[in-house]
Amino acid sequence: MPVPLRTASHPGGAARGMRRVTVLGSTGSVGDSTLDLIGRNRGTYRLVALTAFRNVEKLIAQALDLRPELAVIGDPDLHDRLAEGLRGSGVRSDAGASALIAAAAEAADLVVAGIVGAAGLAPTMEAVRNGRTVALANKECLVCAGPLMTALAAERGATLLPVDSEHNAIFQVFDHERPENVDRIVLTASGGPFRRCSLAEMRDVTVEQAVNHPVWSMGDKISIDSATMMNKGLELIEAHCLFPVAQDRIEVLIHPQSIVHSMVAYRDGSVLAQLGTPDMRTPIAFALAWPERMTAPVAPLDLARIGSLTFEPADEARFPALRLAREAMAAGGTAPTILNAANEVAVAAFLARRIGFLDIAAIVEETLQRAETIAAGSLEEVWAVDRRARTLATQAMLAREGGQSGAAAGQPAPSRPSAVASMS
Ligand code: NDP
Ligand code: MG
Repeated sequence: MPVPLRTASHPGGAARGMRRVTVLGSTGSVGDSTLDLIGRNRGTYRLVALTAFRNVEKLIAQALDLRPELAVIGDPDLHDRLAEGLRGSGVRSDAGASALIAAAAEAADLVVAGIVGAAGLAPTMEAVRNGRTVALANKECLVCAGPLMTALAAERGATLLPVDSEHNAIFQVFDHERPENVDRIVLTASGGPFRRCSLAEMRDVTVEQAVNHPVWSMGDKISIDSATMMNKGLELIEAHCLFPVAQDRIEVLIHPQSIVHSMVAYRDGSVLAQLGTPDMRTPIAFALAWPERMTAPVAPLDLARIGSLTFEPADEARFPALRLAREAMAAGGTAPTILNAANEVAVAAFLARRIGFLDIAAIVEETLQRAETIAAGSLEEVWAVDRRARTLATQAMLAREGGQSGAAAGQPAPSRPSAVASMS
């Protein structure tokens, strides 16, 4: 399925002076990395809108520092506090779900889609509907409604620039003009914190162990997805949406050092890879400056110091989430929507210490078996499938609740890991 990732002309660029950027999910890990880059380049980038969900104090601090035109908080109960915090600053404020969508529609050269989960779908779709260039971190959007989003992008002349490090790597080495020469895509995966654990060892892992990613510092949800390897499963589907390569031509390869961010193999045997220090500011800088390049404050890659790069096959028996994602991709229709919705419910329940780690994939599998897959033709149908899957997943979760290890139960959830994604 060819996707017009690139449009013929670029709306912004250095030639036109300041680039106008909106950051959806500015208070998250991707948001932090984005604002770090923008803060270092205040003469090049002008912020249009920043959005958050509940972290109103952080949103106020960001807005007072970087002075966007608009700041939006998702939770309407926090609007008064936001307006009070921004009084006299000249930054407009708004709140609620429709304000998030309106923020995405504001005139901008680039919209960074950094909201986590399907909650980001409506605002991101709005940016696409307005023909914007979208720096896409929010992979759940594509998993949930990929065909609708890529079709809308083609219709509206929007450009999707992948920010997920693997897809950004592929984007950089993919021959967009001659995709028929591509033999396969190799998605690399760190393997997460439990790469060497048996299923028995994974049964009783704690939230703290699961969010403690060996390489990347990220938000809680994607950290858990990395531990179950559902993240790589979501990325398989994301890759299939973004690049015109058959499903059975997208491979997963474990690469614990996370230096090779992914590869594209060509039919003449050439394999092109993008390498770099694992720091999200590189793919975000790529999107901010595209089609130019900007300087990013990232540690230079020192391969002599790293010494060796290692690779090993992925194990779908120990990481069933990977198998479930591949099966959902093959089933097509709304199966990926169901997979994503069930996973969001299960990960939230694990983070709240209501279920055990292995219950996450079990809940997703049960939901996929029980929910009906259809060929969704509209966003409304996608939302209906998403809601139904969440109901079924919640039922599956309640049936398992309390079965987790006593050690993990009843403790408060951990705070979010450190802000700027970097090597840890
Ligand atoms: P975080 O949890 O750190 O941040 C999520 C952001 O989304 C926050 O700004 C949060 O606001 C906002 N948000 C959460 N729920 C809602 C909602 N219901 N409505 C509106 N906004 C909401 O996530 P990450 O930055 O880690 O990840 C963001 C996306 O990028 C995910 O899809 C992830 O898979 C993807 N990604 C992330 C990478 C990383 O390094 N972190 C790497 C590659 C991809 P608030 O703070 O107020 O709750
Ligand atoms: Mg990734």
